[in-house]
Amino acid sequence: MSTEKRFCDKCMQRTEHDVVEDPEAIYTYKRRRKYVCSQCKHSSFKRGLRPSAESVY
Ligand SMILES: [Zn+2]
Repeated sequence: MSTEKRFCDKCMQRTEHDVVEDPEAIYTYKRRRKYVCSQCKHSSFKRGLRPSAESVY
């Protein structure tokens, strides 16, 4: 599991988020990721920060 600094809608600031790959969306065109805020545990689905840089197969 990795973490990224993302903007949290509840904290209203950039916080550390745990990044969770969605296994049901991993093969779709738009790979969604689940971000869970480490401050308030609020989870949200966002697209990856750098989709092109991470899809080097
Ligand atoms: Zn938060």
